[in-house]
Amino acid sequence: MRRILIVGAGQSGLQLALGLLAHGYDVTVMTERTPDEIRAGRVTSTQIMMPSTVALERPHGLDLWREQCPPIPRAGFTIPGPDGTPVVNWLGELGGAQSVDQRLKMPGWMDLFVERGGNLVVHPVAVSDIDWYTRNYDLVVVAAGKGELVSMFDRDHEKSEFTLPQRQLSVAYFHGATPRPEVGHDALHVNAIPGAGEIIMFPGLTLTGACDIILLEAVPGGPLDVFQGVRDPDEHWRIMQELVRRFAPWDYDRISEAELTDPMCVLAGGFSPVVRRPIAELPSGGLALGIGDVLVTNDPLSGQGSNNAARAADLYLSAIVAHGDRAFDRVWMQELFDTFWDRARHGVKFSTTLLGVPPEHIQMLMGAGNDNPAVCDAIMSAFDNPAQFEEFFYEPEKTMAFLKEVGAV
Ligand SMILES: Cc1cc2nc3c(=O)[nH]c(=O)nc-3n(C[C@H](O)[C@H](O)[C@H](O)COP(=O)(O)OP(=O)(O)OC[C@H]3O[C@@H](n4cnc5c(N)ncnc54)[C@H](O)[C@@H]3O)c2cc1C
Repeated sequence: MRRILIVGAGQSGLQLALGLLAHGYDVTVMTERTPDEIRAGRVTSTQIMMPSTVALERPHGLDLWREQCPPIPRAGFTIPGPDGTPVVNWLGELGGAQSVDQRLKMPGWMDLFVERGGNLVVHPVAVSDIDWYTRNYDLVVVAAGKGELVSMFDRDHEKSEFTLPQRQLSVAYFHGATPRPEVGHDALHVNAIPGAGEIIMFPGLTLTGACDIILLEAVPGGPLDVFQGVRDPDEHWRIMQELVRRFAPWDYDRISEAELTDPMCVLAGGFSPVVRRPIAELPSGGLALGIGDVLVTNDPLSGQGSNNAARAADLYLSAIVAHGDRAFDRVWMQELFDTFWDRARHGVKFSTTLLGVPPEHIQMLMGAGNDNPAVCDAIMSAFDNPAQFEEFFYEPEKTMAFLKEVGAV
């Protein structure tokens, strides 16, 4: 039986581990925190999963929260003009995204992994450990997110656009939000405030049941970038409510009476988007393969991270099974990543564009959504398959041709 070690128990590591178990592999997951520690810990993400990636979990019996998690069938943009009133305001079809708090999901999957016969070792892994493990396992996959193990993987300068965070992030989970009038409670709203950043609000599921979540994406140094040094969760929440009142007042009444779900449900910080080379060579000559955020880290604004992690886990699973008893050598690892990158590059391109100032043709496209549902649906469904943005988003000529095709101009 082939022995596979996965370092890290997040979306990519656990999804791959559970898939490999189902195919009869001897799988060990090493990770730094127990399920109870994760449940009692701080939120780690806002983890919106798109319909196509939720669908990847279903055949493996991993969508354990389908009944409890409020679905997100629709999503859209509200963009204020210079006087602060919305000039863009629409929703498109998202097809059933969902957000299950990783503090609920990952411990649930860890328990399931053990129940199904997996070997779970709670042990923080150092780079020096990996060298030894590459001699004792047929394959070592590093699924350790943005932690220190990324230092094993070289930055790919050609594929990486940024060296600094493009947004400062702050997050809060809360109970007691009311629906947007005339819209309802099931939509994701991106309030894009020109020059300041985005205030994104959507329903999710946390440890204490259904909730709502705000992900605030502040342009560094701008008026939303005010969470440094804020330690008290209640103060964090008061600041966030005040920012909503100032910059997205149409959503303020929705959250003015809402309360945090728990003391660990707020988060603030930032990281630079980056792409890394997929293979780490250890001093003894052993090789380790990266996956998920270790290799491709996007700003959460584009909602690609967990989705990329899930797609990578699915692709790696198929490739490992198809490879049979042959050695997992450098050529195999590189080819696997290249296949993954062929899709992930679209998410990186979209993310990079979204982080910049929108050019005129994108402003026109967003405005066209006010009167044309086909525009809204095309934009929102492409979040699930960013390759589709090639057809209408990046080049003014293609945007115009698309707008003509759907009767928007
Ligand atoms: C604020 C915020 C909001 C986000 N919102 C979204 C969103 O809405 N949609 C979306 O798609 N993505 C979102 N993301 C990104 C998403 O959370 C990540 O891309 C995704 O979780 C990556 O999965 P992963 O498996 O690569 O790593 P992770 O989920 O980070 O898992 C890494 C695992 O490795 C373990 N680990 C780390 N170091 C070690 C070590 N040395 N030894 C042992 N174990 C270790 C960790 O404990 C963890 O279990 C968001 C991220 C942030 C920060």
